[in-house]
Amino acid sequence: MDITSLLRENIRQMAPYSTARDEYEGDLGIYLDANENPFDNGFNRYPDPHNKRIRAKVSAMRGIPAEQIFVGGNGSDEPIDLLFRVFCEPRQDEALSIAPSYGMYRVAAATNDIRLTEVPLDADFRLSADALLAHATPRTKLLFLCSPNNPSGNLLDPEEVEKTIRNFGGIVVLDEAYIDFADHEGFLPHLSEFPNLVVLQTLSKAWGMAGIRIGFAFAGPEIVAAMERIKYPYSVNVITERLVLRELEREAIRREQIATLIDQRRKLVAALEQIPLIRRVFPSDANFVLVKVDEPRKIYNHLIERGIIVRDRSRIAGCEGCLRLTVGTPEENAALIDALQNPDQPFDRSTLPVGGGERCVTVTRKSRETDISVTLDLDNAAPSQISTGLGFFDHMLDQIVHHGKFSLRLTATGDLQVDEHHTIEDTALVLGEAFRLALGDKRGIGRYGFALPMDESRALVLLDFGGRIATRWDVELKRERIGDVPTEMFEHFFDSFAQAARCNLHIAARGRNEHHMIEGVFKAFARALRMAVERQTLDFDLPSSKGLL
Ligand SMILES: *Cc1c(COP(=O)(O)O)cnc(C)c1O
Repeated sequence: MDITSLLRENIRQMAPYSTARDEYEGDLGIYLDANENPFDNGFNRYPDPHNKRIRAKVSAMRGIPAEQIFVGGNGSDEPIDLLFRVFCEPRQDEALSIAPSYGMYRVAAATNDIRLTEVPLDADFRLSADALLAHATPRTKLLFLCSPNNPSGNLLDPEEVEKTIRNFGGIVVLDEAYIDFADHEGFLPHLSEFPNLVVLQTLSKAWGMAGIRIGFAFAGPEIVAAMERIKYPYSVNVITERLVLRELEREAIRREQIATLIDQRRKLVAALEQIPLIRRVFPSDANFVLVKVDEPRKIYNHLIERGIIVRDRSRIAGCEGCLRLTVGTPEENAALIDALQNPDQPFDRSTLPVGGGERCVTVTRKSRETDISVTLDLDNAAPSQISTGLGFFDHMLDQIVHHGKFSLRLTATGDLQVDEHHTIEDTALVLGEAFRLALGDKRGIGRYGFALPMDESRALVLLDFGGRIATRWDVELKRERIGDVPTEMFEHFFDSFAQAARCNLHIAARGRNEHHMIEGVFKAFARALRMAVERQTLDFDLPSSKGLL
């Protein structure tokens, strides 16, 4: 198959824009070639126009040579548009797609003034290569397939996909945005067998990078070279490049999340099938489920009232009566199921799930003396619920949450009739454990401290999550109790926390009013924690030279 003959004439003739960085490639030197500001702030230099580092990384991960990878600086949307511009002569050439499918093919076709014929899948959203190809004309240059398909959710039969690729005389663009959720390897491993195949994979879905806009097109070197020739030279900026390289290192975490979402999809489908409101649940190989209902708008609005936003797809041909439900966290899915099972129940805001972030954990601990449950989210400042049975202790824990901008649900029931000791100690152990787990791989986490005046008192907290465990307590308290907490228990609280969180914690306070001193300590502790757990999005190295983290 001659790919060159499929290219538009002007593209074939065209020489690419040559950037300053194209003319000289090297790492060390005095760069006076691109009219940049020479004072380094981390992003004063232009990015690599050819995305070499990202391509090398993806090449190693996917086993595809770098010259067969195109990096899209605006997710998959950029390659979709570029493919029209590379292959389709406006107002002359044509394209084909399945329907229903992703709306961007139609937008890109219209933008480029190309007629797009949308060929319906059957009632079960199945592909027939023959039915689709019957619509191809000599002017049909591009054909879009999406598998698993959006919005139907199903994987297209790989045999029909292969038949389509083999029997079509133009370029087949196979959009595999959701392939990580399917029990199928997709077509990337077979790319070399099909010179007219372009596989699109985005990092916006399974890989959790929708916000930074990056995606890939995999194809033969000639197709990739043509796309490179006409793309904007610096479409991937230096900040995106750094984040992508860092996130691609976290493949193990991503795989775990994908497994969780697949398991959640199975549970969600099983629950949806039992709900009387729902007429049909379409099989899904993606991270969403299409369902058919009698009154889609009414249910959509009802879900909105419950604080749940889904996608109403009922006006799309082939999806009449359908809503598209994205698979969320276990708590979010439970809220969705509950809302659909009990449509008449009024909305109670406090039932909205907290957290669900990557750094949200629940830790429970039950012993003869205490029963403790902690849900901690480092990245959400949702309203907290704290109850230990000790008023002053609750107040201090609330300082940690409020000044640290965390979200915390903590209930502790202990043998307070005996003594406060067990309740405070075990709460500190569970809380420390929660911080340790929530911090995960500790990338971007450092050592921090915070000093704080509190009226006539001052408090200082130094904190290091570098892996060593120690506490130093330099706070002299003469009172026996503050509120309902024995003063000796404060040192014990921080000591237990440091053991469980595996941190190094130094605390000092001076003053005359001991209530102020302790409150200052908790506030400074909160601020030091906040600084320590803050994700340094632009700093992708571990902050320790010893590699102890
Ligand atoms: C979400 C989605 C994409 C990805 O778009 P990006 O621009 O990469 O965020 C591509 N194709 C389909 C079918 C999608 O649903």
